Amino acid sequence: MNRQGILIVVSGFSGSGKGTIMKELIRRYDDNYALSVSATTRQPREGEADGREYFFKTREEFEKMIAKEELIEYARYVNNYYGTPKAYVEEQLAAGRDVILEIELQGALKIKEKFPQALLLFVTPPSVNELKRRLISRGTESEEVIEQRMKRASEEAEGMEAYDYYVVNDVLDTCVEDVHRIICAEHGRSMRNREFAEMIKKELKGE
Ligand code: 5GP
Repeated sequence: MNRQGILIVVSGFSGSGKGTIMKELIRRYDDNYALSVSATTRQPREGEADGREYFFKTREEFEKMIAKEELIEYARYVNNYYGTPKAYVEEQLAAGRDVILEIELQGALKIKEKFPQALLLFVTPPSVNELKRRLISRGTESEEVIEQRMKRASEEAEGMEAYDYYVVNDVLDTCVEDVHRIICAEHGRSMRNREFAEMIKKELKGE
């Protein structure tokens, strides 16, 4: 079968561990996946580098990117803009790689609308208590921001039905393998392999 790149959207509550899962997935299966780096107007956290975690932009720069249609989608999240640069995603998909977008609900819905074949995964911790514990222990967020993020999580939970799969992040290693297996299975879906079916049919008819 001809391997076509899949556009994969990964969402999950802030503190669900989705970032760690994606980094580990790419470390293990480097050849298969490309991780899209988003643009944002939020301030870098300690340890984050421009061009690695995000492209950090001013509001004016971000609005220019919107005007020039350089983003596939963008959304506002807790008073900042976040968006997916178009060029990289298109390049990588064309090269047959699976491209991962780690984005929130509004962006995920826009992607589903523009790319109906996109695969949408939602990462969740095993419980709400665990979610709060992880947000607090990260230690990078003020109490006020944690409260905002918990409120936002409650709103995002309303959109969980839009996703194709839920991935429970309890043990990191298991979770990474679960995600990889889901994606591998997706490659075999009939809707992604119409040409292959046509070829088999033709050959069977002796054409
Ligand atoms: P954080 O500030 O914690 O890095 O990210 C906040 C939220 O923005 C997360 O849910 C993250 O997945 C989402 N996000 C990151 N990049 C993008 C993007 O390009 N587009 C959209 N719509 N959301 C994004």
